[in-house]
Amino acid sequence: MDDLSDRIYTAFEPRMPSALEQALEVVERDVRARGITGALRLITPGDGALTWVEFQGGYHGAGIIADGDINDLLADVAEAVQETIMELTWKVWPVCATHDRGLHVGCEQGLTVWRCTGDGTHTAAPVGELP
Ligand SMILES: [Zn+2]
Repeated sequence: MDDLSDRIYTAFEPRMPSALEQALEVVERDVRARGITGALRLITPGDGALTWVEFQGGYHGAGIIADGDINDLLADVAEAVQETIMELTWKVWPVCATHDRGLHVGCEQGLTVWRCTGDGTHTAAPVGELP
C-alpha cells in the first residue's frame, strides 16, 4: 500500500465503537430503567491512558484503564457509573427493589451482575437488565 491509498483507507474506515463505549451503552440501560436522566458519556482527558464516565458534566473516581476482557470492562464501567451518579445526585443507585438496599457489581457464572446483600446475598439482575 502506498502513502496515498494508506491515507484514503484511513479516512474512509468507519469508526468502530470501542469496547468501553459498548459497555457504557449496556450500563446506561440500567440508568434509564430507573428513570435517571442526564447526559452520560466517556471522557478521556490527557494522554488517553484513563477514561472517566461523565454524568451531567461531572465525573468522579480514579478512572478506568481500558484493558482486560469485556466482563472486566463492563464491571469497571458499571462501578464508575455508580460512583459518579451517587456522587452527583447524592442518592443510592441502583437499589434492590425487594430490600431497598444499594446494589454492588459482582460476577456470577461469567456474567457481570448487580448483587444485593439482603437475605444472605442474591443477584438482582445482570448489568444492563435491571427491571
Ligand atoms: Zn435484595
